[in-house]
Amino acid sequence: MITKPKIKDGVTVMYRKIRAGYEVSFYFPASSKCHSFLLNKRGFECLGYMRGGSSIEDIARKCRIDIQSLNHLIGLLDKINVLESSPVIVGKELTRFSRQLNFFADFEKEGISRVDMQRKLQDSSVGVVGLGGVGSWVAQGLALAGVKNLTIVDPDRVELSNLSRQCLYANTDIGSTKVSAIQKSLTSLDDKIVCTCFQTAIDSVKKCSRIFRGVDLVINCADHPDVDVMNRLVSRSCFASNTPHILCGGYDGHLSFIGPTVIPGKTPCWFCYEHGIDKKKKASGLQHLPISEVQIQGGSIGAISAITANIHVLEAVRLLSGWSDPKMVGQTGEFDFLGLTLSHSSFSKIKTCKQCGRSPKK
Ligand SMILES: [Zn+2]
Repeated sequence: MITKPKIKDGVTVMYRKIRAGYEVSFYFPASSKCHSFLLNKRGFECLGYMRGGSSIEDIARKCRIDIQSLNHLIGLLDKINVLESSPVIVGKELTRFSRQLNFFADFEKEGISRVDMQRKLQDSSVGVVGLGGVGSWVAQGLALAGVKNLTIVDPDRVELSNLSRQCLYANTDIGSTKVSAIQKSLTSLDDKIVCTCFQTAIDSVKKCSRIFRGVDLVINCADHPDVDVMNRLVSRSCFASNTPHILCGGYDGHLSFIGPTVIPGKTPCWFCYEHGIDKKKKASGLQHLPISEVQIQGGSIGAISAITANIHVLEAVRLLSGWSDPKMVGQTGEFDFLGLTLSHSSFSKIKTCKQCGRSPKK
């Protein structure tokens, strides 16, 4: 029941005077939606009082409009989600996320408000494997979005060469473990964040399952011994525990690889994806010639790490808050930084997939 109508802070109102009255457009910048109405002079004037401070009766009196017409206008605006559905009680903790709440406001629907979306995020528990060029940005992005429980895993210590493309580390952290440096950074950003740290390499499914028991989402950002090996391992572990997981592809030169997102029991899995890649490899006849035993360290810059990681953070925020369905389900992306283009490739469940064929635990 709306008693003091208020146009949402995130909605942009544009108008132009035309012969028949006022053509008014309400833009929702986050969802890119727009609704337009033709209003007469009195209806148009009412909009100026819809700031949450005036009652319906006050507005009707000031704009010399009858209550029935005003209620009709309010009904129209409410139907297209322009008005606050109820007074938003924003405590100190939610004030931190006021801009994010305005973003979520465009996507409010029956049964889930922007505050519900934010609370879902804050109540989530996320595991991050690897805290390098992708993982450090992922940890930061999750914390900025409001995720309060993070389980972070990395065996390494901070080195000088990390500081050009990995965030949350400082000069004074060189020599410290990455997990402790990130824990320090994140708790200084927000003292409500709980970081559970494991300074270890995830080298078995069993270990992965033990570390991430009970989390809502696991994001693999580790690339040692290589990205594919780690994605297989994390995917096996997450399937056993029925845990959604996002498999970051990392970056190489001018390209970064995005996704996929896997929800056990519902979506195609990493092994379905690899099945398609293996078929393409076989068809091409190309093979890799190893020149060096040392792991190849491709060139990169911090901006590429940040963009790659934050596309995955956005996917995690979609999944955890419910503001939108995840976009990388059954598909991977390739971001070309030379041309600034993003292309997608889809893949489907493979009937013979050994992993998808197993029923995840309820
Ligand atoms: Zn599969």
